[in-house]
Amino acid sequence: MHSFFSTDSDEPMEEQVKGAIEKGLKSITFTDHYDIDFPYDEEYKDKPQPIFVFDIEAYLKEIERLKLKYKDRLIIRKGIELGIKEDINDKINKQVNTKDFDFIIHSTHLLFGMDPYYLNFWEGKDVKYTLEQYFLRVLSNLDEWTDYDTVAHLDYIVRYIPEIRNYIKTYDDLSKSAGEGADCNCNLNAHDNDNNHSDYNVTEVFDILKSSNHISLSEINKMRDEVLQKINAYLINIYKDNELTVKKILDKIIDNNKSLEVNTAGFAYKIGHANPHEFVLKMYYEMGGRSITIGADAHSKEKIAFAFDKTEEILKEIGFNGYYIYTGRKSEFIKF
Ligand SMILES: [Zn+2]
Repeated sequence: MHSFFSTDSDEPMEEQVKGAIEKGLKSITFTDHYDIDFPYDEEYKDKPQPIFVFDIEAYLKEIERLKLKYKDRLIIRKGIELGIKEDINDKINKQVNTKDFDFIIHSTHLLFGMDPYYLNFWEGKDVKYTLEQYFLRVLSNLDEWTDYDTVAHLDYIVRYIPEIRNYIKTYDDLSKSAGEGADCNCNLNAHDNDNNHSDYNVTEVFDILKSSNHISLSEINKMRDEVLQKINAYLINIYKDNELTVKKILDKIIDNNKSLEVNTAGFAYKIGHANPHEFVLKMYYEMGGRSITIGADAHSKEKIAFAFDKTEEILKEIGFNGYYIYTGRKSEFIKF
């Protein structure tokens, strides 16, 4: 999980610890973002610069303090999410002593020096080509930096594809219109003032939504299911297009005795799947991959252990009977 040591989180470490205890977790691992050379961003102009790196000494000291304070209630481990890109090896070696950590996450956030999270990343880019390049980047990043335990959100980029964002926005609008459970005759146009779809192809579903003034809850739910099905079909096509590269990535993880991360934040982003998608998790299993780590990528208290139950069911169905945690860089199997 993350804390305010990550540029994109405001949650104090101690709040995360309290949240984990409230959720009944036995242990957690802090894995704050350490992305050297992350490009400057206006959104974080008030945060310590450069962004996405932090004072490692202060970080470890705060974890030590919390470990001691909560030692009877929660096991707390020291991890770090290293952002890997081209020619980063020397810089990481100078700034990070991996021996200080229990767990190292290998993460690819940047492509062409930019994070696909930003809308302007996608301007003028061919989506198919960009996705191919992302998976190839992950593959070469595995050789760029080899001192790690697990590979994070293998398909990180899919969360931010304009088409997927558009589906998610549609799903959100439908959810808002559905309200909380009660059967309603919602006036959908009333919820239609904060959208900025104009940059993208508006989905068929959204067209239906916009043209309808009144619609029943069951119809909304049907439309929500349709959106999820469309996302799923879109994603599966991506993995099929990139199957060879994804296979090579999984091969490398297995050959080098590393783990594959199942990042449940995909559910929080409402793509309806973990990252990576079950298509990739099945491939990994069929290739003999058994070592997985599970992370919610929680940047705030509310997201701790998000969709862990659902994820466990999905993993069991594929054949996995447990997952791994790391202490002092050694893995331990935890049965479901
Ligand atoms: Zn990440």
